[in-house]
Amino acid sequence: MYYALNEGTEEPFFYTKNSVIIEMNNEFINFTGYSRDELIGKSLLKIGYMLRIDSKFSLENIKNGCGFYIFTKEYDERWVSITCKTLEIENEKVYFFKEKTNLRIENKFSIINKLLLDNNVGVAIYNVPNLTLLKANQYYLNLLGKPYNTKETAIGKKASDFIYLWENSEWKEIVTNVINTGQSFLRKEMKEYNQNWKELYIDGNIIPVIEKGKVKYIVLIGEDVTEKVLLRKSSQEQAKIINKQKEKLEIIMENMFDGLFVIDKHYKYTLLNNSAREFMFNFHPLKSVGDSLSYIKYYDSLGNLIPVKELPITKVLKGEKVKEFRITCGMKDEMHNFDISGSPIYDNKGDFDSGIIIVRNVTDKIKAEENRLLKTQLNFFNNMIANLKVGFVRYSYPEYKIIEINNKTYDDLKQINPGVGNVLSIIGKNLFSAFNFTKDEEAEFRKNIQNIVDKKVNSNFNYHKFYLSGEERFLKLIHQPLVGINGKAVEIIDISTDITDEVKAKNEMKKIFQIHEELFANVSHELKTPLNVIFSTNQLMELYLKKGLVEVNKEKVFRDVDIIKQNCYRLTKLINNIVDLSKIESGFFKLNLSNENIVEVTENIVQSVSEYIKRKEINIIFDTNTEEKIIACDPEKIERIILNLISNAIKFSNSGGSIFVNVLDKGGIVEISVEDTGIGIEKKYLDNIFGRFQQVDKSLSRNVEGSGIGLSLVKSIVEMHGGKISVASEVGKGSIFKVELPARIIKSSKAIEKNKQINNKIQMINVEFSDIYSI
Ligand code: ADP
Repeated sequence: MYYALNEGTEEPFFYTKNSVIIEMNNEFINFTGYSRDELIGKSLLKIGYMLRIDSKFSLENIKNGCGFYIFTKEYDERWVSITCKTLEIENEKVYFFKEKTNLRIENKFSIINKLLLDNNVGVAIYNVPNLTLLKANQYYLNLLGKPYNTKETAIGKKASDFIYLWENSEWKEIVTNVINTGQSFLRKEMKEYNQNWKELYIDGNIIPVIEKGKVKYIVLIGEDVTEKVLLRKSSQEQAKIINKQKEKLEIIMENMFDGLFVIDKHYKYTLLNNSAREFMFNFHPLKSVGDSLSYIKYYDSLGNLIPVKELPITKVLKGEKVKEFRITCGMKDEMHNFDISGSPIYDNKGDFDSGIIIVRNVTDKIKAEENRLLKTQLNFFNNMIANLKVGFVRYSYPEYKIIEINNKTYDDLKQINPGVGNVLSIIGKNLFSAFNFTKDEEAEFRKNIQNIVDKKVNSNFNYHKFYLSGEERFLKLIHQPLVGINGKAVEIIDISTDITDEVKAKNEMKKIFQIHEELFANVSHELKTPLNVIFSTNQLMELYLKKGLVEVNKEKVFRDVDIIKQNCYRLTKLINNIVDLSKIESGFFKLNLSNENIVEVTENIVQSVSEYIKRKEINIIFDTNTEEKIIACDPEKIERIILNLISNAIKFSNSGGSIFVNVLDKGGIVEISVEDTGIGIEKKYLDNIFGRFQQVDKSLSRNVEGSGIGLSLVKSIVEMHGGKISVASEVGKGSIFKVELPARIIKSSKAIEKNKQINNKIQMINVEFSDIYSI
């Protein structure tokens, strides 16, 4: 089908047949921006949609001459009046579009156009009263949010499409107000929700465009300040939080257990929390750092004074960090321990601003640790003591107050100080008063302990003498200091052992050594005497031999030989005695027991010496109340005893004197007595003459020869037989020595060779009598 198109017609138009576009002129194509192909075949409904004609209007039933906004393909608004002509051909129509070009916004409002191009704020123009969005830049579309964030979806739509529940919205009110009053609207930071319910803050401005006294358009200018607002809000929020935290922190700081000190660069305290104030004002109100140092001395854990320059506070003020520096200082007469940490704080420029010191009182913790430490040490000692069964006392140092005492020590203590209470009542008492120390003893004791604690002495031994029921006793004390955390002694443990026996034995030994010394002084004299005699006699004999005078001096030579012989015996006796003495001392002196008739043994020995004694013009008389008394004895040793006693009796008798030797059977006992009528012994010496190794009175012993060993040997031998020896004497009248031997017998006894016995006896007499001057 053909249509004659009016070429050169300025008005754009299109044809429809059955409401479908079948042709259009070029002006229409140019006017709308759509291509022919895009347009041909489209229904009127579709074209209305493409041209964004208000949906209220339908091209189908259009009233001629009506004005509309249509939009080009590029979304430019065009105000047109549309005229529809029905053609003769069936169902064909032609629609003419006549534009009022003076209404184009780009021409009318060049400023707004510029604004639209500038995408720094959102700009939109709506017409009034329909409130159709005619133009908008992307910024504005973004504010609308999806799905209206593109021109395609937003241009030509109405404000009511964009705003949720438009009819009741604040926006409708605002816009209506602008339209009615012609006054622009400005509001900062309007809270909005876009299509996606995203919270937005917009600085909004609605400007009415008035033409002929009527608002024809409204221009919306909106700036998204969400970020700014939220940032501000969050920083305000943050500030609030910070403030709250600060308050909280201040409360915490104020009430924290640790002392908190802040010191400025002028060395003044700028902040002290509660604990810090307590710490400080326990002494004096302190204003600056140095103040405390004049009142408090600080020590390290070993008790050394910390110099001011080493103190944590000094270090922090010098810019150093300090971590848990342990100090000890005296507060209210008590020692306290603190762990100090600190850190310097610098300002923005990096200059020292202030120092923060945190002081933690660890006294209790340390005490607990100390107790634990002491307990461990104590457990160890307790176990030791339980096993050793020795005395044990624990006391505080330097107070010397008893803390613990074991049964052994308590038993001793009760004997030393019977008035002392029970174990419990002693606890806490002063050690020295409990143990009845004298002032001097106490001073001495304290000095010793002090030396041990100060490690001035290596050994921690000490001796203490005391009296138990009048008996002198000695304790050996081991002092063991128990050391606290700071390395100082806080308690002492004394472990005591009774060493009375050892001390006595030691004293005895001392005496023995003394006696030995004197004895050997005597012995050396005794040795020299016979040796000198032997030597000089020998010289004399040599002289006779050399000069051939032996025959002439025959008698003298015999005498000299006798003298030499006798002095050899004397030497033998002496040596025998010394050997026996040593044997007895060391326990090697043994008896050779056999069952013997003691009467016979005694009588025989008396007979053996009687010849000898006669020469001395002394009588010897033997008597007995029995003829036979068999007892177990070492006959050789018994003979020596009797010989020794007779030898003494001879030595200390003058010629014409008598010696009585008696054997008395007293049943269970046999008594052998040797009595003389000699010079006697002074009473004061009587107790001493048997004393083992006792020095005999020199004035007596030197009158006659003798080593002074004889009687002590006699006593030892008698005692080894289970017997006793005693003496009675009167000066000038004589002495009597009595030996009592138990009358026992043994089961088996060896027969002693008689011959050997006789030879031995003569030899023995010679030896035993060797110190009697006979030549
Ligand atoms: P010594 O070998 O010197 O005789 P003793 O031990 O036998 O030593 O005797 C000790 C001392 O006892 C003698 O030195 C003497 O002073 C005194 N004494 C011993 N027996 C008698 C006595 N029968 N008469 C007087 N004094 C005696």
